[in-house]
Amino acid sequence: MEKIVIIFTGGTISMKIDPKLKAAVPHLSGKDILETIPQIKDLTEIETIQFGNFPSPHLTAELLVNLRRKIENVIKNPQVKGIVITHGTDTLEETAYFLDLTINSQKPIILTGAMKNSSEIGYDGPSNLIASVITAFSENAKNRGVLVVFNNEIHSAREVIKTHTSSIDTFKSLETGPIGVVDNNKVYFYRKSEIREYIPVDHLEPKVSLIKVAFGMDDKIIRFLADNGEKGIVIEGTGRGNVPPKLAEGIEYAISKEVIVVLVSRCPMGRVDASYGYKGGGKHLESLGVIFGGNLSGQKARVKLMAALAYSNNYNDIKKLFEEERT
Ligand code: ASP
Repeated sequence: MEKIVIIFTGGTISMKIDPKLKAAVPHLSGKDILETIPQIKDLTEIETIQFGNFPSPHLTAELLVNLRRKIENVIKNPQVKGIVITHGTDTLEETAYFLDLTINSQKPIILTGAMKNSSEIGYDGPSNLIASVITAFSENAKNRGVLVVFNNEIHSAREVIKTHTSSIDTFKSLETGPIGVVDNNKVYFYRKSEIREYIPVDHLEPKVSLIKVAFGMDDKIIRFLADNGEKGIVIEGTGRGNVPPKLAEGIEYAISKEVIVVLVSRCPMGRVDASYGYKGGGKHLESLGVIFGGNLSGQKARVKLMAALAYSNNYNDIKKLFEEERT
């Protein structure tokens, strides 16, 4: 009999309010959550795996790699039709993109979570979980890469970001919109996500940092990172992909120390480009050997650079992975 495996990793979906702290803390196991939604068993056979109960800011490269390994093992079973992973929403898009880049399977892999914890009125964990199981069971969800199902929208892992700190309607694919919806327990896909990539790695390079740029910033942070063994740095530049002149000097220094530097924009939409020729402009950064990260967010470019550095230490290989993204 076909089944859906739900892997519980933690996040708000597994939290309740601690009466002393008056703040949300991990509490519920996967089994506890499923007991509140017995109707889920009417949809299909469900197997549960408790991977952990982590707030998502506590996750590490090592834990993500372990999660990926677990998924690879589970997905081999011909009875497993799809996998749903519950996850904290804060870093959900990073885990989703990591799994999307590094798992080569046609079976649906869905991430979901909750914005309201189980002590709050309007706890959205159960509805997100049911919508995710329904999507994972859908024939149409096959071969679409890793998906995020939240608030009845279906998003591709590469496109989606958390846009709101507290709204249940937080996950958005700002440039492209969702790829489908779950409506009245039925799954409707509107399009395919065109960019599908696979980086064959079983680990991540953890020494990769992300620097967000603001006016007047200097080169202190980047020089510190370059001097302390960082292998890769993602720069979330301003606008089209530009940085202050002093920071450009730091970037030149980091590249001289063989650190791979990838440039994206702090704007939530649009691609970076070598449009500006002044010191610190994209054209100047390109001439220094900075790799352009297209329209990826800083946090997703970091995940990709961690995977790219696990795949190769060669600058040209990594440049190709970013600048010739497969479509
Ligand atoms: N801080 C929580 C986490 O990411 C937020 C959530 O799950 O919504 O674990």
